Amino acid sequence: MTAGAPQATWICSDCGVIGPAAGDCGACGKGPLVDASQPVVREYLLEDDVRRREKHRQRLLWLTVIVMVSSYFGGCMMGNLKVAATLASIQGILALIFVSFALWFVLQKVFPAKSKFDFLKR
Ligand SMILES: [Zn+2]
Repeated sequence: MTAGAPQATWICSDCGVIGPAAGDCGACGKGPLVDASQPVVREYLLEDDVRRREKHRQRLLWLTVIVMVSSYFGGCMMGNLKVAATLASIQGILALIFVSFALWFVLQKVFPAKSKFDFLKR
């Protein structure tokens, strides 16, 4: 075998599908196929994956905040003022924060961010 230029690997920058040649993606019709044998392109795709995962985590954090705030105020409106008063203490706030992080953690496990370009890590 001769050591030559690495063989081009055409990957859709949008959906991560591997295509046969340069051009538009046949699977999603959105992204152009980029050559992942180029280190710069590969780095860009992996960074894109990191950004996408971070965005997913942020979305789940917001979902957690909305769930926690609405269940707190929902509990208050249902007349459960004893619970509301308990949660208004330092311990209650710490417990809310702890439960929020636990919920966020569980949501991330249940709905993990899909990475499209993980196979590029070699
Ligand atoms: Zn595509």
